[in-house]
Amino acid sequence: MSKQFLLAAEGVTKSFDGFKAINDLNFYLDKGELRTIIGPNGAGKSTFLDLITGRTRPDTGTIEYKGTPLTKLREYEIYRLGIGRKFQTPSVYSDHTVFENILLGLEGSRSVWPSIFSRVKPEQRERIHEVLKTIGLADKAELKAGTLAHGQKQWLEIGMLLAQNAELLLVDEPAAGMTDEETAKTGELLLSLAGKHTIIVIEHDMVFVRQLGSKVTVLHQGHVLCDGSLDQVQADERVIEVYLGR
Ligand code: ADP
Ligand code: MG
Repeated sequence: MSKQFLLAAEGVTKSFDGFKAINDLNFYLDKGELRTIIGPNGAGKSTFLDLITGRTRPDTGTIEYKGTPLTKLREYEIYRLGIGRKFQTPSVYSDHTVFENILLGLEGSRSVWPSIFSRVKPEQRERIHEVLKTIGLADKAELKAGTLAHGQKQWLEIGMLLAQNAELLLVDEPAAGMTDEETAKTGELLLSLAGKHTIIVIEHDMVFVRQLGSKVTVLHQGHVLCDGSLDQVQADERVIEVYLGR
């Protein structure tokens, strides 16, 4: 390949019990890009993120990040390369404070060792407050994460990815279950992170997709149906057919 993409997936296929959830998928992402993936339920959007992060292995095809093949790496190795993933349902540590949740992201720890909370270095404290400011939770640092509103939990999880120093952020349906106001704030947050980070957002809410204003890739039956601006893909006959189920 002549051009160096940040992420390049080629000819990727993944079957579950003979059903092709991902079918000969090609996907290329530039560094700093914000890209939105849309597509009907079951199109393979989340499975594609599973394949990038090593949660699932492809049957065929290659996925390269900065030229490094990911398909033989373990999940923690892919995580260490700077790829962070936010699942659809927020999974924050409810019994820990907002501050401690970001600390866990910073430590790259997905298991909670009480000892890390008692020896926070000044530079860690500074970085945590920087992240909390970015995600708009600076005044919530000492609250238990479990007491946050749904939208705030989603932002906290994005904050954990930032603390992890993830360069590529994979964000699965961040606006699901959010109020309109929370959705708009989430859009602003992602737009503020794009450029410095490369971001893939999976989303259903077209108001939100329009707010992001990014290139849109339409996934259907595990394959890229088309891509372009939201207006372009919405005017595409094939997309209209898929969504109207004709
Ligand atoms: P989307 O996120 O676009 O709604 P998914 O990627 O979650 O779709 O799912 C695509 C298809 O693959 C669905 O039919 C789903 O049931 C199937 N699938 C996804 N993961 C698994 C799995 N681990 N085992 C079996 N089937 C799966
Ligand atoms: Mg999904």
